Amino acid sequence: MDELSIIGGGLAGSEAAWQAAQLGVLVKLYEMRPVKSTDAHVTGDLAELVCSNSLGSTLRNRPSGLLKEECSLLNSLLVACAEESAIPAGDALAVDREVFAQKITQHIESHPNITVIRQEVTEIPDGPVIIASGPLTSDPLVASIQQVTGARRLFFYDAIAPIVNASTIDMSIAFRASRYKYETDPHGDYVNCPFTEEQYFIFLNALKDAQRIPLKEKETILNEGVQINQPAFFEACLPVEVMAARDPLVLTFGPMRPVGLRNPNDAQRPFAVVQLRQDDLADTLYNLVGFQTNLLHSEQARVFRLVPGLEHAEFVRFGQMHRNTYINSPDLIDSTLQCRSRADLFFAGQIAGIEGYIGNIASGLLAGINAARLIKGQAPVPFPLDTMIGSLHHYIADANPERFQPMKANMGLLPPLEIMRRNKQEKGYIHAKRALNSLRAFIESTLN
Ligand SMILES: Cc1cc2nc3c(=O)[nH]c(=O)nc-3n(C[C@H](O)[C@H](O)[C@H](O)COP(=O)(O)OP(=O)(O)OC[C@H]3O[C@@H](n4cnc5c(N)ncnc54)[C@H](O)[C@@H]3O)c2cc1C
Repeated sequence: MDELSIIGGGLAGSEAAWQAAQLGVLVKLYEMRPVKSTDAHVTGDLAELVCSNSLGSTLRNRPSGLLKEECSLLNSLLVACAEESAIPAGDALAVDREVFAQKITQHIESHPNITVIRQEVTEIPDGPVIIASGPLTSDPLVASIQQVTGARRLFFYDAIAPIVNASTIDMSIAFRASRYKYETDPHGDYVNCPFTEEQYFIFLNALKDAQRIPLKEKETILNEGVQINQPAFFEACLPVEVMAARDPLVLTFGPMRPVGLRNPNDAQRPFAVVQLRQDDLADTLYNLVGFQTNLLHSEQARVFRLVPGLEHAEFVRFGQMHRNTYINSPDLIDSTLQCRSRADLFFAGQIAGIEGYIGNIASGLLAGINAARLIKGQAPVPFPLDTMIGSLHHYIADANPERFQPMKANMGLLPPLEIMRRNKQEKGYIHAKRALNSLRAFIESTLN
């Protein structure tokens, strides 16, 4: 039986390796860290989370909650490890990132069917391969992927948010609360920094005027007939300063929205808030939710200390911007994650155009199962369209190739319900029930 090579031991590659190995396939998992690192990773652990420590909602009627439940039904190693490393975060599954990555590394390295090879892969090897090298795929491998797929442009820009030392937040100004639960749960999971209208506009102007780090790679675009160079941003993860420049109030509808919160100091809804979420089990670090940024580090310290409650905050990590590499999936791959021009070549995770931690885990899971099936002489299978995992992978294979940008799990990908429902919550539960029934039937009829 052929061995399976997997390039990249991140979220997708680790899950893929586990799934294929559990199906009896021998796996060589290539991970270049710690021999060669990326601009964002800091350890040599497999499945390191580089930014937020949240894997999204745990509620079944929300897209990421449903996808997690589907992954659990499919025996996901990473979702199980996330649940074992969970820290308080309201209705979200947030993890201690170190505990999470260490657990996964231990499971993978001790699996009898998996050999972990700490080496940069510079060319796509022959034989069954899953490429799961993520948004920061190393340059030689990008060149090899371009050669094999004929793709030209393979990147855009994404950003990460800063983290502060919890003991340096001024809790006489900031207050703890989870959105919409301030009456029932006064010790909520988030730290909220409240703004008056005046404080908000002072902060906004400082943010808009602050100096940014220049980006090296720019895309030449035609703007009213004139060629200009500008960075290509990912619309779903814009730097906060780019958002701020679009409209003076846009942040109050986005990361700084105050809905569902009351400031216990004056019993009023603040004009705006910055929310901070616990980042580690020891409860010593907090990240600024939705505050991904590309400001100079000195400017981040100056501007973010204008946030009420963060006047004396110590920044343990500053935000940064990074390249995000992905293929034009609708042109190149099927919903089985197989390359159309080479059946034993699979793409999984962010490089396949899947967005979000849980989506990338699901993608590795699907690629691992299908690569194992191919090696064992069974046909790779698309997953049902009415499941979140299936609809996401159908989307990246079937979207319009002219306008393709990575996609995260969302209810809009699922086929419409037969019965109309106005209530979003109720609709979510009906989608979830249908998806989970469909997945159970698929596991029984096709995967077992
Ligand atoms: C700075 C940054 C911040 C992000 N923030 C978030 C966030 O907050 N929330 C979110 O959902 N997503 C975020 N993302 C996207 C995030 O990367 C993905 O959700 C997830 O990590 C992707 O999983 P993956 O397995 O595809 O890639 P990764 O987890 O990045 O794994 C890819 C692995 O491949 C390895 N590798 C690369 N090239 C080679 C090579 N040539 N040979 C061998 N190994 C190689 C890398 O070292 C890495 O370990 C962020 C990405 C970055 C870079």
